[in-house]
Amino acid sequence: MNVDLHSHSTASDGLLKPQDLVARAAANGVEILALTDHDGVSGLSEARAKAESEGVRFVDGVEISVTWGGSTVHIVGLQIDPQDPVLRSGLESIREGRVRRAEKIGEALAAAGVPDSLAGAKTYAENPNLISRSHFARHLAKTGWARDVKSVFQHYLVKGKPGFVQHRWASLGDAVSWIRASGGIAVVAHPGRYNFPRPELHAFLAQFRDCGGAGIEVVTGSHSPEQYVEYARIAREFGFSASRGSDYHGKGESKADLGALPQLPDDLKPVWHDW
Ligand code: AMP
Ligand code: MN
Ligand code: MN
Ligand code: MN
Repeated sequence: MNVDLHSHSTASDGLLKPQDLVARAAANGVEILALTDHDGVSGLSEARAKAESEGVRFVDGVEISVTWGGSTVHIVGLQIDPQDPVLRSGLESIREGRVRRAEKIGEALAAAGVPDSLAGAKTYAENPNLISRSHFARHLAKTGWARDVKSVFQHYLVKGKPGFVQHRWASLGDAVSWIRASGGIAVVAHPGRYNFPRPELHAFLAQFRDCGGAGIEVVTGSHSPEQYVEYARIAREFGFSASRGSDYHGKGESKADLGALPQLPDDLKPVWHDW
C-alpha cells in the first residue's frame, strides 16, 4: 500500500496548488494521501474533490505549529473534521500570530540591511493569512541574498541569524486537544528534526501521549535511514502507531517526492490500520 500522510500545497508553503499536488501524488502511485498544510485547512476541499476524480483515497490533515520547552515542534492531525469549530478557532489564533511574526521578521531583516522582505514574501504566498519563513526564503533567494532557499534559511532565518524571530505557537496540549475535538488522530511530525537530547525527547513524547497523542512519523523525508530504525524503536517503546509521509513541498524544496519513501517496518502498527 502506498500511503503518504504529510504534504503541503499553496494553502501553506507548498509550491503546487492542492489539485496539482493530488494529481502528482496519483501519478506517483499514492493510494492514500493526506494534505497537511501548516496551521490551516483551506486547501482540503479542493484536494478532496481532485482525489475523488483521480481515485486516490483522501485524508483531511493539518500540521500544527507548537511551542514546547522553548522549541518549535510540529504536530500533524489526520482524519480531522475541517469544519469543526474548536479546531478552526484554534488554527485561526495561530494564523493571527503568524501575521504578527511575519511583520517582525520583515523588520528584523530590514535592520540587517535586507529591505522590503515582507512585501516580497507576500508575492510568494498564495494564502495571505499564511506567511511562512519559506516565502521569505524564496524571495531572498530570488533577489540574490543567498544562492538557494536552503542557504537563505542557514544564513538568515534560523535561530541566531538576523531574520530569526522568537515566536510562541500553540501549546502541545491545545494542539492535541483541537485535533481530537475534531475527531482526528495526533501524530508527532518528523521527531528526528528537533535535536532534543534523549531525556527531553522522552519528556516530550510522554507529555504528548499523556495529552492524547497517538502516533509518530517514523518514515519521513526528514529522517535518515538510521532514524527510521531509531524512531521505529521509540514507537514500540511508547506504544505509538507509526506514520509515513514525504513532507513534500515542491520540486527542489523537498528531499522526498510524494509516495517515494520506503515502507514502515512490518511489526509497527500503521496509523491507517483501522481506517
Ligand atoms: P515557519 O512555520 O513559517 O517557521 O516555516 C517552517 C517551514 O520552513 C518548514 O515547514 C519548512 O517547509 C521550511 N524550512 C524550515 N527549515 C528549513 C531549512 N533549513 N531549509 C529549507 N526549508 C526549511
Ligand atoms: Mn513547510
Ligand atoms: Mn514540519
Ligand atoms: Mn510539513
